[in-house]
Amino acid sequence: MNAAIRPISLTTPFPVGAVNAFLLRDDPVTLVDVGPKLPDAWEGLADGLRRAGCEWRDIEYVVITHPHVDHHGLLSRVLDASGATALVHPDAERRVLSPRLAAESEAMYFEPFLTASGVPEEIRGLIAEHQRLLQEYVDGVDEVKTVEIGARLELGGREWRVLDTPGHSSGHLSLFDEEEGDLIAGDHLLPHISSNALLEAPRHPGGERARSLIVYMEALNMVAALPVKRVYPGHGEVFTGAAELVDRRLRGYERRCSQLLGWLGERPHTVFELVRRMFPRLSRGNWFLAVSEIVGHLDVLQARGQVGIEERRGLWYYRVEPGREVRSAAQSG
Ligand SMILES: [Zn+2]
Repeated sequence: MNAAIRPISLTTPFPVGAVNAFLLRDDPVTLVDVGPKLPDAWEGLADGLRRAGCEWRDIEYVVITHPHVDHHGLLSRVLDASGATALVHPDAERRVLSPRLAAESEAMYFEPFLTASGVPEEIRGLIAEHQRLLQEYVDGVDEVKTVEIGARLELGGREWRVLDTPGHSSGHLSLFDEEEGDLIAGDHLLPHISSNALLEAPRHPGGERARSLIVYMEALNMVAALPVKRVYPGHGEVFTGAAELVDRRLRGYERRCSQLLGWLGERPHTVFELVRRMFPRLSRGNWFLAVSEIVGHLDVLQARGQVGIEERRGLWYYRVEPGREVRSAAQSG
């Protein structure tokens, strides 16, 4: 019997609910993700360790699946208490070391991006405020070690392969134990909700932004082709049937693509007009998710040559590429 993976469920203040850390109890003792910087989450972690008969100083490694505050917020405090080494995806290094600086440069990129996407000033303000508030739940750290994608790591008494699973976040890794079929997946695959492929600024100023949904769909297909038996997700219960879930998610994206293509066939739209049509009753705090959702699907359609962008009075209008209406109608028929 292989060494156990113990989930430790931690409180978050976010709509997604609790987040899972995983304790790999055998040597070298390893913690995967640590929760947001909140007293409740800290207590939850300490309690989880105690119940497993562990002390802070037993932990040798802390793996961060991706640089979102609900997963790495407490890292600084955990490293102080344990003296452990933090392992992160190379593309996550900058955001784990200095989350505030990273957030500031993201904000600078998004202001003109959202303006050209037709997002009104008031909502741009809400989005900026929301992103700023997230920084309350995280501290940066002085040092991390980056792991090589595809590397095999000895953690918690097992051998794990490091998988590159970007899309929900850049710098997102998953750990796969091929022998047992166990996948520690972060937010790459969640049982109860479709993981959002979040819009991100380019890694380097002036560079191209990642097409989050496109890379996410590729990484979903990659995981579906692996012999995964159990998924240990960042939120929700451990589950089976990874390939079926991937299939369901991919079909959902195709449906949404068809819907957008239909609307764009009526007339060109800005991203924000599509947000309004797709999510007529959106609440505060969800604007960034909604914009990400629409931009992601438009990226897919654009990469397929089905839609293009034209600029009018400083706004980006997405429109169906001439000659493509016929093809899409033929495809759906
Ligand atoms: Zn998460």
